[in-house]
Amino acid sequence: MKVAVFSTKSYDRTFLEAANVGGKHDLVFFEPRLNLETSVLAAGFPAVCAFVNDSLDAKTLLGIAEKGVRLLALRSAGFNHVDLAAARDLDLTILRVPAYSPYAVAEHAVALILSLNRRIHRAYNRVREGNFALDGLLGFDLHGKTVGIVGTGRIGAITAKILHGFGCRLVGYDVYQNPDCLALGMEYVALPELFAASDIVSLHCPLIPETYHLIGAEAIGQMKPGMMLINTSRGQLIDTKAVTKALKSGIIGYLGLDVYEQETDLFFEDLSNHVIQDDVFQRLLTFPNVLITGHQAFFTEEALKNIAETTIGNITDFEQGRPCPNQIDLDRLKK
Ligand code: NAD
Repeated sequence: MKVAVFSTKSYDRTFLEAANVGGKHDLVFFEPRLNLETSVLAAGFPAVCAFVNDSLDAKTLLGIAEKGVRLLALRSAGFNHVDLAAARDLDLTILRVPAYSPYAVAEHAVALILSLNRRIHRAYNRVREGNFALDGLLGFDLHGKTVGIVGTGRIGAITAKILHGFGCRLVGYDVYQNPDCLALGMEYVALPELFAASDIVSLHCPLIPETYHLIGAEAIGQMKPGMMLINTSRGQLIDTKAVTKALKSGIIGYLGLDVYEQETDLFFEDLSNHVIQDDVFQRLLTFPNVLITGHQAFFTEEALKNIAETTIGNITDFEQGRPCPNQIDLDRLKK
């Protein structure tokens, strides 16, 4: 099948070509992000392959559908960036990669916790400059601390398991209770209780209307002063302005982000020669107790291999008219 692959980086190409054994599909790689303007590139392709920061709003979907696209193969688990109602009305099929390596993301969340706690980001720079003073690097034992996991699905459960190994007490919030988390001794509580009890809160729920700005002024008002907030899920779970205020007042003592509300204009690109226009983001970078990575939690060899292999398998299922377990059920959407 002829596939237009958008937002291609060298690593996407490497892993997709390796998974496309025997050149089964004709993959054409485009560096630009998919949006209304670049949708012209999809002309003549029955399939488009897209990533998390491609714009998959109603106009872009109409743009690709008009050019003959019938399949949208997402290289991601999340599909909050897709206008599903528009996709249904245009009769597009959407396939995704529901799980590729929950370990990759969970381990990155724990890396942020450990780095922030022991100030590794600051220590690294100090030692390189011959500054071996310890002032400002004081950490705390993770052992015995309470960690609140919001969203105890695949990634949340693995994060909980790793932190259980450190001797943390676990509290959780989810619309379903995960037996694996219960087996670790996790106590499921309401959100206000979770915020009040937790030294560290790690977000692992999807971005849906109910979770938009889950961490805002109200939630912050319920938190333990000096707590650590970690977000490796989706940027819009956090009201960044409210969190900045809480960093200034000290309610939030540490902030670790792999995702950011307005990341579409920043992440995955080298902007080191540009003036960054996002003042909210730039303010975050000035705090010594904030550590930001650019949506790299998924970025392990295992995850990229799984993403590529599942994506190629999804496209093959579609081409051969086989039911695909990774299809998003658009018929269940209300008209
Ligand atoms: P999952 O579907 O296995 O788990 C999500 C959990 O959230 C489920 O248990 C679900 O019941 C729960 N949930 C749903 N609504 C909720 C609500 N209102 N409040 C609390 N919990 C709720 O998904 P996963 O594989 O664990 O992924 C979690 C999230 O991680 C994804 O939604 C995605 O946004 C993010 N993610 C980030 C990266 C990255 O590179 N940073 C990579 C992959 C996934």
